[in-house]
Amino acid sequence: MDRIDSVLGDLPADLYITDPDVVSRYLTDFRRFRTGRSRAVLRPRTTAEVQRIVASCAAHGVPLVPQGGNTSYCAAATPSTQGDELVLSLERLNAVRGIDAANLSLTAEAGCVLSVLQEAANDAGLMLPLDLGSRQSCQIGGNLSTNAGGISVLKHGMARDLVLGLEAVLPDGQLLDVLQPLRKNNTGYDVKQILLGAEGTLGVITAVSLKLARKAAQTVTAFLAIEDIDALTTILARAQQFTGENITSFEYISHHSLALLLAAQDSLRHPLSAPSAHYVLLEAQTCSPVFAMEEAVAQLLEELMGEGLVTDGTLAAGEQQRDRLWYLREHIPEAEVANGGSVKHDVSVPTSVLPAFITEASAIVATHGAGGRLSIYGHVGDGNVHFNVVAPVEAEPGSYKSWLEREVSPRVYDLAVAMGGSFGAEYGIGVVKLDLLDRYGDPAKLHMMRAIKAALDPAGIMNPGKVVRT
Ligand SMILES: Cc1cc2nc3c(=O)[nH]c(=O)nc-3n(C[C@H](O)[C@H](O)[C@H](O)COP(=O)(O)OP(=O)(O)OC[C@H]3O[C@@H](n4cnc5c(N)ncnc54)[C@H](O)[C@@H]3O)c2cc1C
Repeated sequence: MDRIDSVLGDLPADLYITDPDVVSRYLTDFRRFRTGRSRAVLRPRTTAEVQRIVASCAAHGVPLVPQGGNTSYCAAATPSTQGDELVLSLERLNAVRGIDAANLSLTAEAGCVLSVLQEAANDAGLMLPLDLGSRQSCQIGGNLSTNAGGISVLKHGMARDLVLGLEAVLPDGQLLDVLQPLRKNNTGYDVKQILLGAEGTLGVITAVSLKLARKAAQTVTAFLAIEDIDALTTILARAQQFTGENITSFEYISHHSLALLLAAQDSLRHPLSAPSAHYVLLEAQTCSPVFAMEEAVAQLLEELMGEGLVTDGTLAAGEQQRDRLWYLREHIPEAEVANGGSVKHDVSVPTSVLPAFITEASAIVATHGAGGRLSIYGHVGDGNVHFNVVAPVEAEPGSYKSWLEREVSPRVYDLAVAMGGSFGAEYGIGVVKLDLLDRYGDPAKLHMMRAIKAALDPAGIMNPGKVVRT
């Protein structure tokens, strides 16, 4: 009997699947970077069952790979190809434990799909202000483990900023129970923070208490055309001022990305009368029923157009038109896939230098990229840009992308870092960015990461090979 048999022997048969056809659905990452091997998928329904699984794996030295919705862009939830790891799917640990409307908080289990929690908050007359394109499949445990960003970071922060309390199973099977939904709790180290963004390498998150927000009484969405990218910073600052810091999303879309999407999907129409070099999808929200948000945004546009900072624009008249504008922003990745996929540089820089970054990085690809097509978009209001490159039409996408990653990507990352930025804004490290972390990570930070990993997971059973080299 090998170690994996010993773990499975410790567990009731209804806690795991071994049918290879079913198991195979958990073995390839979303972007198809990697297909791993695993004999079984463990599927706990309760925190106690997670504890039992982790304790057994610790006792027998079997590594575990926690998996949420498996939408990671960095192959962070995919087992190794050795076949010596077990996948731990959180999909059945999915109860909403409760909503405390007066406390503006929601407590839910890790396997809840993000959109389900958004609906639960909505049904309670409130709002969960975490939102990303994968909302229909990603799980809150995965969101916290990647410290997900998304489209509301500008006003509400990253996933980490929404966490009030956490419940998790540590690598030795101990339960960490700091789940109280408290806004003030200064009682020693804030230990929950090290599990947030740890990509499953320090324990299994089983439940969370999250901050909710008051539902928006007014939402104003605008699609703006911009000719001079240097105007972005001023437009953002002015938009925050006019709306009283109520900009929830400030999403950049380059002409190239929109053109790629319009060409890939025949049914779509350009939202403005003429193309422009750059666009911003801006959204402002307030829970106030009395603040004149629409008037504020209309005045903002009038001023920006008067100064020539914005050359054209449209305000969404109703929910349908808003959805159409957001569709354009959220379906750019599909257009990239239709063109053979892209090399994604998920970088962030201070917003003050973001226009300069886009200009200089574009020049790098124009000079060294052998005809690669740029697709630049992202949550630029918080300094995060997806600076993506699609293969030229005549090139074979796979080999072009490998070449670009080897020859050109380092120049793009060097530029971001030289401008005070980061090579990994919101997708995490997984296995895909380990080399980048080695290259750009602060040595003392890497030392601390290894020390924390060794202290909490000395046997290295939690998602080995991801985030931190041991
Ligand atoms: C269309 C699309 C749009 C996206 N947009 C964004 C975006 O705007 N912003 C953004 O940040 N990301 C985005 N992503 C990336 C991805 O959706 C996020 O990283 C998301 O938070 C991952 O959640 P998941 O449940 O799918 O996690 P998984 O992919 O299953 O896992 C991710 C990591 O978390 C670990 N993990 C999962 N659950 C647990 C748990 N309960 N306990 C411990 N570890 C766990 C895994 O081991 C792995 O390391 C997007 C992806 C897609 C496909």
